[in-house]
Amino acid sequence: MYESIIGLEVHAEIATKSKMFCGCPVVDLTQAEPNSAVCPVCSGMPGTLPVVNQRAVEYGLRVALALGCEINPVSIFARKNYFYPDLPKGYQISQYKQPLARHGMLRIRTAAPRLAALGQADIQPGERAVRVRRVHLEEDTGKLTHSDDETNPYSLVDLNRAGVPLLEIVSEPDLRSPEEARLYGEALRNLLRYLGVNSGDMQKGVLRFEANVSVRLIGEEGLGTRTEIKNLNSFRALERSMAYEIERQSELHRRGKPVIQQTMGWDENRQVTVPQRGKEEEEDYRYFPEPDLPPLVVDEKWIEEIRLSLPELPQAKFQRFQEQYELSAYDADVLVADQEVADYFEAVGEAAPEVSAKLAANWVTGELFGLMNQAGVGLSSLKVSPQALAGLLKMLKGKRINTPTAKTVLAEMFDGGQSAESIVEAKGLSQISDADHIANMVSQVLDENPEQVTKYLEGKESLANWFFGQVMRAAKGKANPQVVKDELARQLVLKN
Ligand code: ADP
Ligand code: MG
Ligand code: ZN
Repeated sequence: MYESIIGLEVHAEIATKSKMFCGCPVVDLTQAEPNSAVCPVCSGMPGTLPVVNQRAVEYGLRVALALGCEINPVSIFARKNYFYPDLPKGYQISQYKQPLARHGMLRIRTAAPRLAALGQADIQPGERAVRVRRVHLEEDTGKLTHSDDETNPYSLVDLNRAGVPLLEIVSEPDLRSPEEARLYGEALRNLLRYLGVNSGDMQKGVLRFEANVSVRLIGEEGLGTRTEIKNLNSFRALERSMAYEIERQSELHRRGKPVIQQTMGWDENRQVTVPQRGKEEEEDYRYFPEPDLPPLVVDEKWIEEIRLSLPELPQAKFQRFQEQYELSAYDADVLVADQEVADYFEAVGEAAPEVSAKLAANWVTGELFGLMNQAGVGLSSLKVSPQALAGLLKMLKGKRINTPTAKTVLAEMFDGGQSAESIVEAKGLSQISDADHIANMVSQVLDENPEQVTKYLEGKESLANWFFGQVMRAAKGKANPQVVKDELARQLVLKN
């Protein structure tokens, strides 16, 4: 049996207004005219000088601190030399020997059912600490677009992205399955979003993964030869490419063949990894300290200021939600994944303290998310305010409406933005709890269906549900289900 060893390198664009070493704005690549946000510095003209963007350093420190890293009081920018048409200077300014920060940690939570579903039941569920090796600052490259027309081959270069601040976050090889790697990626994405450092919008390419994968016999010490899968732009691609690569390497091991250390790409259409080039060694890049930039010195006071300004982080919120609201780990996990969702949930609770947190959590993550997913609506354009949802849940809790009615009402609130109260009034949806009224409906249903009553009395007990359905139909779904059930049971006993 083989086990997989995975280390992730994550590149996150830092959401600053301007680029890392010049004043050009950071623009949305999918919107802006190509090469519209470019100057002599980021297009690599000779004689220009870089200037460090302080905000990018601050954001980098936010992430490093949130990951519990040690911050290097002095870090050094270095030139990483290589030629590629998207890199006009012929080198990338990065950090190498002395990165901004190191020795951090990120917690992930693996869930048993999901692991079993993925055929990874041998992995222990539960919390796991993944060590972060280093966090460093660098600049992004430009973007190439290659024509796919073989009769007319060309490549386009867009330098809008050249020089955009990037944070590289490198994990230790602590991950043991594609699932864990995905969870780590998701946890990191959530954290970056909490910190306001990165939108997490993977379709726009602002967050990219590289997966380093090797396999070894279970029980074996030391690490096997790894391959590196470049440029993974979705969690699906991340998970699938690793699964493929693990299988490929395991097969090589089984056949006694060596794994070659190399850089791979992921072919989305064929769902296979393909070798791109031999893995470059450090020497190939001829790293040396960037002569145009002084060492980056961050003073202790600034670090402390940033530390104090950090918001409550996902892990802390996860624990608080379980303690304060007595939510399950599952519910807490879903709610804290997105800070806006967590805030929304808490605002519902504040507006309806009499409603249990569990009920509120169910309605937010169940019904409301369902409607939002269906309509493709995000929280920012949601018409149902937390106070409005609280209003609905109060009516449900107070038994003024039953659950099916509440669902119908929420769907209307979602479409039109009215309050639950006004919808219930306008449509006369208030729940019928009046015992006499319900008793009348029950006896009418029983009177109209003497055959079913006989069958029921002869032992066909499943008909109780059918009677229940008939009464609810007569009540247009508005009857209090418990009162109907009790009344049905009472009258059926009397028939005996
Ligand atoms: P480089 O900068 O050359 O890509 P590093 O040695 O800094 O390489 O490692 C990059 C990533 O590869 C890290 O996330 C690390 O955890 C991971 N890694 C290193 N060795 C292995 C291995 N044998 N198997 C899996 N991952 C590995
Ligand atoms: Mg690498
Ligand atoms: Zn520029």
